[in-house]
Amino acid sequence: MNVSYDLHTHSTASDGTLSPAALVTRAAAAGVDVLALTDHDTTEGLAEAAVAAVGAGLHLVTGVEISVTWGGQVVHIVGLGFDPDDSNLQRGLAGLRRFREWRAEEIGRRLEKHGISGAYEGARGYSNGHLISRTHFARFLVEQGYSPEMRKVFKQYLTRGQPGHVAGEWAALDQAVAWIHAAGGEAVIAHPARYGMTRTRLRRLIGEFREAGGKALEVVSGSHSKDEAFTMAKHTRDFSLRASLGSDYHGPETPWTELGRLSPLPDNSVPIWRGWPVFTTAASA
Ligand code: AMP
Ligand code: MN
Ligand code: MN
Ligand code: MN
Repeated sequence: MNVSYDLHTHSTASDGTLSPAALVTRAAAAGVDVLALTDHDTTEGLAEAAVAAVGAGLHLVTGVEISVTWGGQVVHIVGLGFDPDDSNLQRGLAGLRRFREWRAEEIGRRLEKHGISGAYEGARGYSNGHLISRTHFARFLVEQGYSPEMRKVFKQYLTRGQPGHVAGEWAALDQAVAWIHAAGGEAVIAHPARYGMTRTRLRRLIGEFREAGGKALEVVSGSHSKDEAFTMAKHTRDFSLRASLGSDYHGPETPWTELGRLSPLPDNSVPIWRGWPVFTTAASA
């Protein structure tokens, strides 16, 4: 039987809209056999997801998506299959969340100066006691009518040169990879085609990532075209890296990405799960 993987998803523990349990239930219904919950800079949702996974009959892989600053630019590194109780990893993630807190207040102050009041409190409300992300500001700004939709609001308010932009001060690339490794996990460059890098710059990133002990590139992503997947598969071969696959699902509000609806990895790439235990699911047992 063909095992269906989705190794990049979000829950309400970061900027997704489904609870970890609801995400797992939906993934199982969509036919996903092996799911990784990879919230931004937190593993808070993993315990709830693990309980739900037992009930839903799918296998949960521990995950996280770490915010990294590399060459003045934000890059995301997914960690898979680590020990979530690793104190070194948790210390690192806690530092990133402290920066998130400060940044959120700063975004609020900057938007205030721009004539938008209550953005910090509004975003805080959307984050519902969990970590705070630009996505929560985006939801507030759309709801308040400052922008017609989620894709536009980032461009108008939350990206470089815009009134609510605050430069990230995230983990270093080698640091993020080392945290994941030391916790027994594997590091993956998330959606590598989304960074707007030239081929030369992207290959420099991939080279440094590999040097630091990185394992895989996300080849198939909810935000990659077929052509981009093909190009990323080629990079995995050139750098002897594995290939990963994930939807980057954030919730049913963004229907253009769905759980478990991805194309297969290109034939000539080596899946990150080669060598993982073979998971038998309720459906295949
Ligand atoms: P943060 O990590 O708080 O800076 O927020 C980054 C998150 O915002 C990403 O993980 C995406 O979920 C979301 N995001 C970033 N850019 C866009 C965009 N142009 N349109 C929609 N969502 C975006
Ligand atoms: Mn996100
Ligand atoms: Mn990302
Ligand atoms: Mn993501």
